[in-house]
Amino acid sequence: MSVPPGVTPKDFSDAIKRWQEALGAEWVFTSDEDIDLYRDPYSPVWHEQEEPIASAAVAPDGVEQIQAVVRIANQYKIPLWTISTGKNLGYGGSAPLLGGSVVLDLKRMNRVLEVNDKNHYALVEPGVSYFDLYRYIQDHKLKVWIDPPDPGWGSPMGNSLERGGGYTPMHDHFDAVCGMEVVLPDGELMRTGMGALPGAKTWQQYKYGFGPYIQGAFSQSSLGIVTKMGVWLYPEPEAYLLGTVMVWKRNDVIPLVEIFTELVSSGTMRGCTTVASPLWLGLPDPELDTLRAGGSVTAMEEYGRRKGIPYWSIPLPFYGPAKVVAAQWEYAKKKCSSIPGVTFQDGPSYRFPLNADDLAKVRDPVQIGIPSLQIFGLLPPQSRGHIGFSPIVPMDGQALIDAFSLFDSIHRELGWGRAVLTTLTSFPRAIVIIDLFPVEKDVEKNRKMRELYRRLIKEAAARGWGEYRTHTTFMGDISNTYSFNNHALRRFHETVKDAVDPNGILSPGKCGIWPKRMRKAEA
Ligand code: ADP
Repeated sequence: MSVPPGVTPKDFSDAIKRWQEALGAEWVFTSDEDIDLYRDPYSPVWHEQEEPIASAAVAPDGVEQIQAVVRIANQYKIPLWTISTGKNLGYGGSAPLLGGSVVLDLKRMNRVLEVNDKNHYALVEPGVSYFDLYRYIQDHKLKVWIDPPDPGWGSPMGNSLERGGGYTPMHDHFDAVCGMEVVLPDGELMRTGMGALPGAKTWQQYKYGFGPYIQGAFSQSSLGIVTKMGVWLYPEPEAYLLGTVMVWKRNDVIPLVEIFTELVSSGTMRGCTTVASPLWLGLPDPELDTLRAGGSVTAMEEYGRRKGIPYWSIPLPFYGPAKVVAAQWEYAKKKCSSIPGVTFQDGPSYRFPLNADDLAKVRDPVQIGIPSLQIFGLLPPQSRGHIGFSPIVPMDGQALIDAFSLFDSIHRELGWGRAVLTTLTSFPRAIVIIDLFPVEKDVEKNRKMRELYRRLIKEAAARGWGEYRTHTTFMGDISNTYSFNNHALRRFHETVKDAVDPNGILSPGKCGIWPKRMRKAEA
């Protein structure tokens, strides 16, 4: 059994004994076999010395047990790493950032505490997965949708705290969080927003409560262990309609995104979508590969026209009353008709509730609030995992052209072939580019991959693009780029961290924030 950094073997075995007394011996894991399950199968440092491996894991089943775990951790200064279901693959999974940390596994706390289909919210514990919540809603015949990400085996808790996204109008997951209960690093129990008012009737309906708004301090954070969370749900709509806009010239993306931005900002289009380039993502074809590697823009456009592949396309999902979604799509088509040569594709469209036959035909269930693991089927069969580089860029066509060209040229320069880039409109006024590349069980390849990743971070930052989220391996690198005024933001985070968690026990290193006793001199 390894020992957390800075903790003596005697102290660690005393702490383990005390956790066993508090939780029951079967919920404290120390064997290599058990600890192995908490390793990150998508780790970019797999089998290297720096792979962070937990020393133990504890699985409490309630707030009081979490408080006991935290108090013991404080006494011995043992770092904990909190996970809900630990399915955060691509970002670290259930492995800690700091090797030797003890994983605080909240999977057992999997109660759906409430689903309200009149005011459209749920109150959940950390271990509730999207599948669990969906099943609960189906079993109770409630007329609300959840908003699952790809894939749906993780938890609303973990995904929302990490500021993940889905597809329906509730796709910005942290924006849909309303009210939390949190165990603080010293074991104190706190409720945010209206939850601070004993007997409050609107804990899941009004986010702000009174005084400084503190809910955000617990997202991508190491300041607390969230034990209950309110999530806004979407009332089952009457209809869904997908309409796709396709343009055929590279620079058409500029007016296209301008129109799209108006549709988003005005609320005419409220789902999450992608500004895709089918020519960049198209199936491998030697002619296209040659063009991508250095052909002229006109030659690419000509190829696309010949093969019927648009340069850019945007699928627009509309949700709501049938007449309204039809009118919204008509409006979008009218606006986009100003782009010469634009073409449109109508559908699919659905009316809810779907019967079993219609349901079986749905190609993309997450679009209509149904959790799925379908995404894994889209990965190449030889895939051993992947990791995403995901900078936030302006909702602007020229920025997309610039970013696509830059990332592609860096991929090629470092010998990775062409970049496979996609975009998501998960957040209201910006675009996330997802540059997905493989992680391997091969030390040399992973080293090269890290070189590519770090180069992308620097080049993106030099252009004013920062990542919205990252794998634990790169949290320090990303934090370094958010450096305005000599890292004023990180220094503020550290001040808060030191005040709230003086022993530095919660998730050290998360998002580049280290407790004082582990803080290295900053560059
Ligand atoms: P998911 O349940 O979606 O698989 P994870 O359990 O992997 O998500 O959690 C993702 C990250 O979110 C964790 O690494 C941790 O930093 C943070 N996190 C998850 N659950 C909690 C929680 N209950 N309280 C505080 N932070 C959490």
